[in-house]
Amino acid sequence: MSDLHRDPNKILRSHALGARKRYGQNFLIDENILKKIADSAPIDEETLVVEIGPGLGALTRYLLNRAKAVLAYEIDQGLVKLLKKHFTQHHFYLIHDDVLNRDIDQDIATLNQSFKHVVLVANLPYYITTPVLMQCLEKTESLSHLSVLMQHEVAKRITAKPSTKAYNALSVAVAYRANAHYAFKVPASVFVPAPNVDSALVTLQFRQPKQIPKHEPFFFELVRAAFKQRRKTLLNNLSAFTSLSKAEISERLTRIGIEPSARAETLNLETFIRLADAFNNHQ
Ligand code: SAM
Repeated sequence: MSDLHRDPNKILRSHALGARKRYGQNFLIDENILKKIADSAPIDEETLVVEIGPGLGALTRYLLNRAKAVLAYEIDQGLVKLLKKHFTQHHFYLIHDDVLNRDIDQDIATLNQSFKHVVLVANLPYYITTPVLMQCLEKTESLSHLSVLMQHEVAKRITAKPSTKAYNALSVAVAYRANAHYAFKVPASVFVPAPNVDSALVTLQFRQPKQIPKHEPFFFELVRAAFKQRRKTLLNNLSAFTSLSKAEISERLTRIGIEPSARAETLNLETFIRLADAFNNHQ
């Protein structure tokens, strides 16, 4: 088993590397937490684990021990070189790229193997937490479970209910596709370098949506647009999003029982689906 992760600063220095802030590099050094993260995902010898940002492989070690295969995305060339040298297991597949440029389903298909489950486990770089989650919720079909470490504040959003400060487009997208669970808080002190904020582990159990909009991509777009300027009314946000006049938007909103002066944060998932269907031009 590789011990690359044991002293991140020392390892990075000895390879003339440094923790790169722009890639959100905060390496986990607490074995208990690493084990708890791996334990939070249902992984067995039939499982493919997708890991985003393996870094120095601290979490990857646990995943490789438990899964049929691990498919990891790492953006940092220096780390990719180290990982390739130290993790030579045949069931470790490493892609050197920005995960946001990838089609995860396609990459899984390229492995050309059968898996009973595909789960994603990651200590996510903070700067891409929301886009990665949206990518998984909107565009990825293979995943059945996510265990992700993220900023505490984003973790709160994921499980937020309507009419609360934390409720946003991500909360709606999560409610649509998954059962979310705030698992536990992780203090900043267990990372090297320590970030400025605490983190939390969230698990998402994917399930069939309870109700399906007429056109799913449009539904996601509309949810994002509705929250674009949080303090603006639905009428104003939708008017920037569609080519309809304000009078037409008001009329459609009223027809489906939504006040044009309402704000997105007050609408629950079912109302968003109704809203998307009323404005959908993709039939
Ligand atoms: N998994 C390691 C751990 O727990 O110690 C490192 C986690 S660190 C918070 C985030 C990792 O994601 C870094 O290795 C970083 O280089 C990588 N990363 C950052 N942006 C990325 C991106 N867009 N695509 C793929 N990997 C990325």
